[in-house]
Amino acid sequence: MIKFKIVKKSKKSKARLGILETRHGVIETPCLVPVATQATVKSLNSEEVKETKTQILICNTLHLHLKPGEKIIEKADGLHQFMNWKGPLMTDSGGFQVFSLGFGKDFQIGKIVKEKINSQINLSQKPKFLKITKEGVYFSSFVDGKKIFLGPKESIKIQEKLGADIIFAFDECTSPNASFEYVKKSLERTHYWAKICLKTKKTDQALFGIVQGGRFKTLRKESAKFIGSLPFDGFGIGGEFGHNKKKMLQMLDWVIKELPPEKPRHLLGIGYLEDIPKIIEKGIDLFDCTVPTQYARRGIAFTSLGKLDLRKSKFLKDKEPLDKKCSCFVCQNYKRNYICHLFRAKEITAFRLLTFHNLYFFNTFVEKIRKSLV
Ligand SMILES: [Zn+2]
Repeated sequence: MIKFKIVKKSKKSKARLGILETRHGVIETPCLVPVATQATVKSLNSEEVKETKTQILICNTLHLHLKPGEKIIEKADGLHQFMNWKGPLMTDSGGFQVFSLGFGKDFQIGKIVKEKINSQINLSQKPKFLKITKEGVYFSSFVDGKKIFLGPKESIKIQEKLGADIIFAFDECTSPNASFEYVKKSLERTHYWAKICLKTKKTDQALFGIVQGGRFKTLRKESAKFIGSLPFDGFGIGGEFGHNKKKMLQMLDWVIKELPPEKPRHLLGIGYLEDIPKIIEKGIDLFDCTVPTQYARRGIAFTSLGKLDLRKSKFLKDKEPLDKKCSCFVCQNYKRNYICHLFRAKEITAFRLLTFHNLYFFNTFVEKIRKSLV
């Protein structure tokens, strides 16, 4: 179980400072939740992740279900033991991956929809990889193409075996292009699934419900009211907005008003550094984000002076640390010239150094926001 206490509320915005107690330690909120898709933050071990000021990680239910399978992790005494992460853990419900992989493959879009691609999508085209019924979703595994079924009961049972501190209800994450009629129907399913998830769960793990409703105000409000009325321990806010950040912030205004104020709110899968202060001002307590780690593997460092592309040859002669203001071990010990060389030579140490720095940088960024709220 979890305990959430709001320590302080901002006078200028809806931001709040909180303490979230879990079986595996205390989290200070607002808090970034780095993504450990396959029970690892790619290129770092769990001890190193801890050194980046990371307080909690989110692992991916669908990935772990397909590989190595939840039974293996259960036999290993759960995710915490398996990956030697002593702190709090979350698992997502698998819903997002089922839908995004299905849609992504058929429509050539990923999580972020670019305007250009957006206009080329044929909306009448149905995804081949998905079949959605009242009970759940049939889809093809991206590991071996095998037909798989995942529904609310299955998702909760898998998440119980994985054993994270916080788990999520199974939901349908609709495409940003979905029509009002489609989203309305999908929402009925998500709400029905939410009740089944609550009934299925037998452990003392905290269960968060997920608000959906696409880009439509009436549906978002309806979803927040309904999900907010159920006995969840906290709430996830899901959905895809592509590059439309204004719409995302507006959606948070609609939704947060309807949710019980005493429970934690998690914004699922947000992105960029510049979004973080804005979503915190709207009243978000937790948010997961792949940007620091994913960008690191592409050679991009986040610094107090903006982003740097370490693959560029100009950095071969640069004897500065990644960021003079950063106190992480990478910035204390290595220079841009060496990291640039590692990237150009395709050495895996490049991923490690940049992933460490970026996570430390993002966590410090959020820590500063927390300090400003005190
Ligand atoms: Zn650094």
